[in-house]
Amino acid sequence: MSKPKSDKAILVIGGGIAGMTAAVEAAEVGYKVVLVEKEPFLGGRVVRMNQYFPKLCPPTCGMEINYRRIRQNPLISVYTLTEVRQVSGSPGDYTVTLQVNPRYVTGKVDLDESAAEALTSQRVDAFNAGMGKTKALYRPHPMAFPSKMVLDRKALSEDDKAKLAASVPDGAIDFDMQPQTVELKAAAIIVATGWAPYDAGKVENLGFGKCKNVITNIMMERLASEAGPTAGKIQRPGDGKEPANVAFVQCAGSRDENHLQYCSGVCCMASMKQARYVREKLPEAKVTIFYIDIRPTGRHEDFYYELLGDEKIRFVKGKVAKITEADGGALKLDVEDSVTGTKIGEAFDLVVLATGMVPSLATEKLPLDLPQDDYGFVVGGEDKGIFAAGVARHPIEVTRTVKEGTAAALKAIQYITQS
Ligand SMILES: Cc1cc2nc3c(=O)[nH]c(=O)nc-3n(C[C@H](O)[C@H](O)[C@H](O)COP(=O)(O)OP(=O)(O)OC[C@H]3O[C@@H](n4cnc5c(N)ncnc54)[C@H](O)[C@@H]3O)c2cc1C
Repeated sequence: MSKPKSDKAILVIGGGIAGMTAAVEAAEVGYKVVLVEKEPFLGGRVVRMNQYFPKLCPPTCGMEINYRRIRQNPLISVYTLTEVRQVSGSPGDYTVTLQVNPRYVTGKVDLDESAAEALTSQRVDAFNAGMGKTKALYRPHPMAFPSKMVLDRKALSEDDKAKLAASVPDGAIDFDMQPQTVELKAAAIIVATGWAPYDAGKVENLGFGKCKNVITNIMMERLASEAGPTAGKIQRPGDGKEPANVAFVQCAGSRDENHLQYCSGVCCMASMKQARYVREKLPEAKVTIFYIDIRPTGRHEDFYYELLGDEKIRFVKGKVAKITEADGGALKLDVEDSVTGTKIGEAFDLVVLATGMVPSLATEKLPLDLPQDDYGFVVGGEDKGIFAAGVARHPIEVTRTVKEGTAAALKAIQYITQS
């Protein structure tokens, strides 16, 4: 192992694509990095996608390279299931307290899904956007990194605990594992805490939670994924039927003074990508995209023009005022067509709401003195050696996020060498 360039470490908070990029870029030029992720796996929101634009490749293609770079680099220490509890000290010389939450699966003995077969205790499958359940002992998703099982201790019944205790090898599960505290030093901090989807239930007129066949764009990613709850079949949640007529509702809660006032910048591309999922998987299905403005910027515009050439895809410039459910689970959309000025009332089998991205730090604060705007995006901190990257800073897509991760690594290194 080559000697680190500095004894001073960089703390990266958030193990999505922004944080992973920052970690590997800093470590590969010789700096020590501590990468902290609150979930049991790295990859953030990108690993929940079916495919990602612009190339429409599955998340595996970009993620595997990053996982390998992390695995191979002894300068990176990864803490999953971990939160930052306290940061004290001064810029350039922070003392950080981490809380590592229990996985219960010790890692001393290999465990796989077969260990969970006999269990009846289940938990909501958050990875699949709440569609379906997993066993209480589960692998978060097939390409999870680290590729380890996790036990949801609260979901485990006493009967199942006894079954597991009797069936798994000694030392494989520690049912009494406690949170651990880790204290470390960091000279610079990268905040890469990303985003959560806007709560579609708040946009009451659009029927999410009331109409069974109204789903979100996040759910659509999981429905289209081979590893998702329907093994990649696009079906209506209400009755499992294949939809013949799918509507996408753009700006569902975005650019709206009652909800998110900003544009998330990715939802138009996300819906167009998802329109392609529908057309590829259900060649006879028709797609309508209701939009206020279509915003595929730069080279993404080609994607839009490609879709315009598909006779089964229709773009309607108009705001959806209301969605109601009719008999048989059909959905009636009341829309005002802003080009013709006419009111449209049309029925669809499935509606996908294009909800935007809310910064994680809008609701979950870090123990840092971090300037944030009214929406929760980070807007400063550089003077204290704190650098934000990715959607923690503003709503952006993966390509720009990767560049920001690299830029944050460089800024952190400059801060360390100059302080
Ligand atoms: C429906 C939809 C589809 C999309 N499709 C595409 C696409 O096809 N192509 C594309 O380029 N972009 C797409 N995007 C955008 C893409 O998801 C983002 O650009 C990307 O997720 C940004 O990565 P990030 O690392 O900044 O954030 P995230 O992916 O959110 O990662 C942040 C990580 O930080 C962790 N974290 C949060 N808070 C803490 C904390 N306090 N402590 C420790 N860890 C924490 C989270 O658990 C997460 O792992 C899409 C967005 C949406 C809404």
